[in-house]
Amino acid sequence: MFIDVAKIYIKAGDGGDGAVAFHREKYVAAGGPDGGDGGRGGNIVFIADNNTNTLMDFRYKRKYVAENGENGGKNKCSGANAKDLTIKVPLGTLIKDANSGLIIKDMSDGQDFIAAKGGRGGWGNQHFATPTRQIPRFAKPGEPGEERTVRLELKLIADVGLVGFPNVGKSTFLSVVSSAKPKIANYHFTTLVPNLGVVHAYEDKDFVLADIPGLIEGASEGVGLGTSFLRHVDRCRLIIHVVDISASEGRDPISDFESINSELKKHSQRLASLPQIVVGNKADIAYDTDMIEKFKAYVTALGYPFFLISAASQEGIKEVIAKTVKMLDELPETLVYEPEMSINEQPAKKDSRDFSVNVHDGIYYVEAEWLPKIMSGINYNDYESMNYFQRVLRNSGIIDRLEQMGIKEGDTVSIYDFEFDFMK
Ligand code: GDP
Ligand code: MG
Repeated sequence: MFIDVAKIYIKAGDGGDGAVAFHREKYVAAGGPDGGDGGRGGNIVFIADNNTNTLMDFRYKRKYVAENGENGGKNKCSGANAKDLTIKVPLGTLIKDANSGLIIKDMSDGQDFIAAKGGRGGWGNQHFATPTRQIPRFAKPGEPGEERTVRLELKLIADVGLVGFPNVGKSTFLSVVSSAKPKIANYHFTTLVPNLGVVHAYEDKDFVLADIPGLIEGASEGVGLGTSFLRHVDRCRLIIHVVDISASEGRDPISDFESINSELKKHSQRLASLPQIVVGNKADIAYDTDMIEKFKAYVTALGYPFFLISAASQEGIKEVIAKTVKMLDELPETLVYEPEMSINEQPAKKDSRDFSVNVHDGIYYVEAEWLPKIMSGINYNDYESMNYFQRVLRNSGIIDRLEQMGIKEGDTVSIYDFEFDFMK
């Protein structure tokens, strides 16, 4: 089975916590703070891999979590940064936000991409000593790593897409013009994976040709196989539309040609409006010259270049390739998708500062996913540490909310295990 879409969860590592420690040495009275910093959490990095064109691996592994940074230690010992977690995807994979479907990154430029950043390590208490604050009994916790769910979507990178009904000879065509070895057989749906071949036309005129599994009528509505494979011609610049001109299966070339075009149109306007070269294949066993002439007249009247070929005997192939090269020369480059959202601007979590306040029996209960982590780094017996906690409550908008809700001096605020009297 060919897998070209996948949904995975990625989570970068959290930063390590800063340490609270004090210098101690024999015969030396209490030394200064020497708690080290936490290390950085590992990033999630996507790497484009030219040697694969399936997302099969992601069918079995859907959760990717990078390691956390190490906590700081005493003696100003910094915790180690965690290693990045790398994920290989085929060149041409689109990384989309799973919820909105917006494109985050098109992995077709060969560049590595950080899709979730590791959290920064927290500062150890060594940084918090000032002339007036000599014994900082607090340190910063590490920041959480970013997390998100992404949809991976493979879109092969090819200049030219081969389309046509099953069995018309697309794979045979690909095999004679490139060194690709697609499966060729005389029954429908032999091609269950898109195949890519590099065509060395002449000198430096190379192009990539994609053999797309058979389209059938209704493909764009999800009937049969065709529709899911159409995405692999989305980037193409040109289409070679192959028709069985021998009518060896009792088919009518004109209606075949029209059905395929209407499938393309239903899938995407861009695809439908791409230039096409129409190729009538199996000329070696085509005896109905009237039908050939009729078909040729039909497509040329619509403005398509037409070639009569036999992929089996390689008759007429050279002319098709020459025409392809000529047309590609005048066409824009293969499509690269621009990002539709920036993960740097948008917080990965809904809102890392989300909180809720509820009142029961005159007590104000504050809850926030991010609070316990911060509170674990607070020393409630230390004035400076409490000041820091106050600032957190103020900057996050919790104090404002309490006041909006009508809190008065002396009312009780409860934040998880911690209770205090509200004071202005
Ligand atoms: P696809 O489904 O479009 O990829 O078609 P294939 O390339 O697998 O070919 C289908 C069948 O048609 C195979 O049995 C081929 O050998 C045969 N075929 C392909 N091209 C020609 C041709 O030019 N002449 C003849 N006589 N048979 C051909
Ligand atoms: Mg085939």
